[in-house]
Amino acid sequence: MIYLDNSATTRQHDRVTEVMVQYMRDDFGNPSSLYNLGITAEKAVKEARKQLARAMDLPEGSLYFTSCGTEADNMAIFGAASAQRRRGSRIITTQVEHPAVLEACGRLEQQGFDVIRIRVDQDCRLDLDQLKEAINEETILISVMQVNNETGAIMPIDEIAKMKQNAFLHTDAVQAFGKIPLAKCADLVTVSGHKIHGPKGIGALWIKKDVHIPAFFAGGGQESGMRSGTENVPAIAGLGEAAALLSEEGSVKELRDRLLSGIRDEIKDIRVNSPDDGCPSVLNISFLGTRAEVLLHTLEQDEIYVSTGSACSSNKKGQSHVLKAMGLSDREIEGAIRFSFGKYNTAEEMDQVVDKVKKAVSRFRRLGSFR
Ligand code: PLP
Repeated sequence: MIYLDNSATTRQHDRVTEVMVQYMRDDFGNPSSLYNLGITAEKAVKEARKQLARAMDLPEGSLYFTSCGTEADNMAIFGAASAQRRRGSRIITTQVEHPAVLEACGRLEQQGFDVIRIRVDQDCRLDLDQLKEAINEETILISVMQVNNETGAIMPIDEIAKMKQNAFLHTDAVQAFGKIPLAKCADLVTVSGHKIHGPKGIGALWIKKDVHIPAFFAGGGQESGMRSGTENVPAIAGLGEAAALLSEEGSVKELRDRLLSGIRDEIKDIRVNSPDDGCPSVLNISFLGTRAEVLLHTLEQDEIYVSTGSACSSNKKGQSHVLKAMGLSDREIEGAIRFSFGKYNTAEEMDQVVDKVKKAVSRFRRLGSFR
């Protein structure tokens, strides 16, 4: 199998699985329990928080474990909106966020918040002029992802921080974590376990010191009262381990470059939808005159796994809102495939993929939809 859908999810590292099994089978206590089994679990959570904080390498702040990246995004956005409600009602985000951010902002809009969605250009670069103009005294929150999950475009968080005035700055760093240094100037940062060879169903929200948002859940007061609910100790320990293992990871840039130059050499009529200076973990290409969904299933027959866009959304049929926001034509959107790389991919795999994609594309172009 050649797995090139690492932006959707990653294969869990064996060491992570071992750690998780330990906290499922042996050290299964509740961190709130007073006896040794509980204390062992509590220590595991503490250690994982340290491991994650070290890997995220952000200024002084607090880390709260959540059930996933989506929950951390929701916690940041609803929390910031609620904390700042009296100061203003403007929320700025982008047209190309993950649904976890877009839908949360949409709900706030329905409640009367004034939500501005900043556009991107055809390379998925944010319109900073529009953003600058949109910021006013009423702006309470700016939420901009650090790396776009469909194109790999890196958003200018540092520049946004300089113009943000009193607004909280949240960045969804789910696709950035482990690939590029996290934005140190953000107030709230979201990460997720399953994109870094860690477990699914675990994420975290980092909140800068002196930034306060209310708790999302009412309950038993775990996570310093910020995220009640008995801690998912195996997943938390697994996330900590995955974060610690990131230091062993090499760059995937060579893989991306090899795949891209192979495709460019071998296949005509393509559009590269990822910017040159994007995050090397993602490569999005439109094969004009094809249907990505058909290509995907053709490649699947050779056990090559790619994506037609964001697989994190349940809206699997709809057109990519990201490619649409970039102004791509229906034809370009229809033929768009996302390749995304991880630590288990090899250079030889890239050559095999070029060959198989070339065959699938030329077959489609010859015969049309042949499924
Ligand atoms: N944000 C981005 C940019 C993502 O790519 C994803 C998942 O694909 C999420 C948020 C959601 O993370 P989770 O699957 O942990 O809820």
